[in-house]
Amino acid sequence: HPADVPELPAGVADHLREEGIEELYPPQAEAVEAGVTRGESLVAAVPTASGKTLIAELAMLSSVARGGKALYIVPLRALASEKKVEFERWEAYGFDVGVSTGNYDSDGEWLASRDIVVATSEKVDSLVRNGAGWIDDLTCVVADEVHLVDDAERGPTLEVTLGKLRTLNPGLQIVALSATVGNADVVAEWLDAELVESAWRPIDLRMGVHYGNAITFDDGSQREVPVGSGERPTAALVDDALAGDDGADGDDQGSSLVFVNSRRNAEAAAKRLKDVTATHLTDDERGRLAELATEIRDVSDAETSDTLADCVAKGAAFHHAGLAPEHRSLVEEAFRDRLVKCVSATPTLAAGVNTPSRRVIVRDWRRYDGEFGGMKPLDVLEVHQMMGRAGRPGLDPYGEAVLLAKNSETRDELFERYIWADPEPVRSKLAAEPALRTHALATVASGFAHTRDELLEFLDRTLYATQTDESGRLERVTDDVLAYLDRNGFIEREDGTLTATGIGHTVSQLYLDPMTAAEIIDGLEWADANRGEMVRALGDGGSARSASEGEDAAADSGFQRASELASGSAEESSDDADADAAGDSADDSDITYPTALGLFHLVSRTPDMYQLYLKSGDREEYTEVCYEREAELLGRTPSEYEDVRFEEWLSALKTARMLEDWAREVDEDRITERYGVGPGDIRGKVETAEWLLGAAERLAGEVGLPAVPVREVKKRVQYGVREDLLDLAGVRNVGRKRARRLYEAGVETRADLREADKSTVLRALRGRRKTAERILENVGRQDPSMDDVSEGAGDASTSL
Ligand code: ADP
Repeated sequence: HPADVPELPAGVADHLREEGIEELYPPQAEAVEAGVTRGESLVAAVPTASGKTLIAELAMLSSVARGGKALYIVPLRALASEKKVEFERWEAYGFDVGVSTGNYDSDGEWLASRDIVVATSEKVDSLVRNGAGWIDDLTCVVADEVHLVDDAERGPTLEVTLGKLRTLNPGLQIVALSATVGNADVVAEWLDAELVESAWRPIDLRMGVHYGNAITFDDGSQREVPVGSGERPTAALVDDALAGDDGADGDDQGSSLVFVNSRRNAEAAAKRLKDVTATHLTDDERGRLAELATEIRDVSDAETSDTLADCVAKGAAFHHAGLAPEHRSLVEEAFRDRLVKCVSATPTLAAGVNTPSRRVIVRDWRRYDGEFGGMKPLDVLEVHQMMGRAGRPGLDPYGEAVLLAKNSETRDELFERYIWADPEPVRSKLAAEPALRTHALATVASGFAHTRDELLEFLDRTLYATQTDESGRLERVTDDVLAYLDRNGFIEREDGTLTATGIGHTVSQLYLDPMTAAEIIDGLEWADANRGEMVRALGDGGSARSASEGEDAAADSGFQRASELASGSAEESSDDADADAAGDSADDSDITYPTALGLFHLVSRTPDMYQLYLKSGDREEYTEVCYEREAELLGRTPSEYEDVRFEEWLSALKTARMLEDWAREVDEDRITERYGVGPGDIRGKVETAEWLLGAAERLAGEVGLPAVPVREVKKRVQYGVREDLLDLAGVRNVGRKRARRLYEAGVETRADLREADKSTVLRALRGRRKTAERILENVGRQDPSMDDVSEGAGDASTSL
């Protein structure tokens, strides 16, 4: 019982009892036995949904109660706020909780006063690099989903960060939470931790494969789920779970979670499955779902919003990383409340979000993999995590996880491959060059190593070193990386000592991959050296260029007409056409160089930006764009025969064009259509561009190049506006659309806004009095009140 754990602060056990936690689950009891509430390090490798979070909470609360400070490291930003909310219930007992997201270049000093801090591993790494003092006060660090050290992109950061935290603080307690993996013992050895490994689950899991007209389960039993002619097996399975005639007690309506391999498939599946869920709704549910659909539509005006709302109105939803965060949490909540009956999701949902379901259907067990060059089977670990989402304790008699097979051979293969199989071991990815490049510089810059030997010694305490038999490999890659850093002026090597240069420190603090920094500096230097020639080319090309702009605008308006017809929003589109026409026409005398597109392209070709993929037909289109706007790009275009480099150059150009559209006030809706992305992707790219341009501005200043044009473009992408709106759009609550409407009404600057006729302002803000007052307040107007202000007669756009 929690009450029997003496290290727990007063009140905690009672609180847990109120939440329905009377007894510890067996793995939790084992963790307490192993000393997790007495400061012992621990690796807990137990199945999904078996109460790992409580193990972490027991450790953190008892550590803080002894006067310490705890840090909870999450793998995804989306999980940080979820965990913070979860831990905030302890604030009533005197534990302050803080979450650190946001900029990578600050030291988050305010977090010093928090007892429990939640952050991603990237954020923690950057806090260490920026010398946050409170890091030294940590007594307990939790690493959630520690098996992700296996992830090539993000694993090395988690691995090195844990290493640094342990170096800074030798007595530190590490609590690593892991899915069941093939080598939890190795992970425990690396972290000098006790190991709790268990297959225990709070609710039985039946795993099976559906083929033909039945599911065959791992215990040999079968359940008939006939598939009607023209019906898809997934629909039959969802319908069957909702019919709930399996004789089980309790809630007889079972929800389903369907895992598919792409966002597009997730949306397509939800559109079909809504016709199944619609037949299982009560009148009351239909009413509540209609309200939820309205709420979803209100989040954004992008098409995804409408599609999602249409599905939700009928009891189905989709979930993937391209959704706006607000959409994601609305869907998760409604699914947990059993209002939404079926969610089709990409595997992001399996990673950490607590959304159990009666039935899990793993529809796609293969995914396209570029490096592999085709469809690649998912890891056992991943499929097990998806399957582990089956079964809601206290609601379902058991959980069911079902894979789909088209023929009997596949059925047998799926049993072998996933149901009987053990998960893979986790393997460190640290020896890969991009990872070492970044972490070697940071390790030197933040003073963890002053010589090559010290650096190797630090790296020797990583999981990589624990695992590798191949002696000399780490040393070899390290030497290559040090040579690279030296060549690019980020470190100096003298008599065996390593020091970071000024610029090396900046790069590390800005949290850039050194290769990103090198690329940015090269591009800016190139622009400086070729400025005269390029400005002339832009001027000469004036006619050619405005022709292409004209074409562009024409293409836009063609596009507009189509979307106007579809959405009926003629007004937004004509705003846009005006803005386009007034746009960047090239006049020799006032050409700004580098241009926004040039800078967007520069940051988009660095390894720190995930570029948009080229789809079929894109290669031709962007090759053309590339030649038309070559004078704007900051560097020589690679030859078309250099296949890989050319392709990357074009992907960066596509990404840059999307950012340019955003900074030219093109509607979000049209951007999503044009580039085949979700609103969440736009936000992601915009944030990355903002960060990288901020970094470029610092770097430019440091190497003595003009920083002002970079800053302007950074602001344009931040607010999503053309130059003329920069002043206005910076006012809180204004934003890109309102700023344009104010501007068109003659209110062009903050100063104007402070002086303007209130009824003009109110009309431009479509009669929204509260908003108008807030904006006037934010811009510092003496008397912001809108009482007694009339909007003027004959205005049709009032939305009150
Ligand atoms: P994991 O992190 O292992 O995937 P969670 O920590 O999210 O799993 O736990 C899943 C659910 O089980 C949560 O809703 C949690 O409140 C509940 N839970 C955890 N421990 C207990 C317990 N000892 N008794 C009852 N419910 C518990």
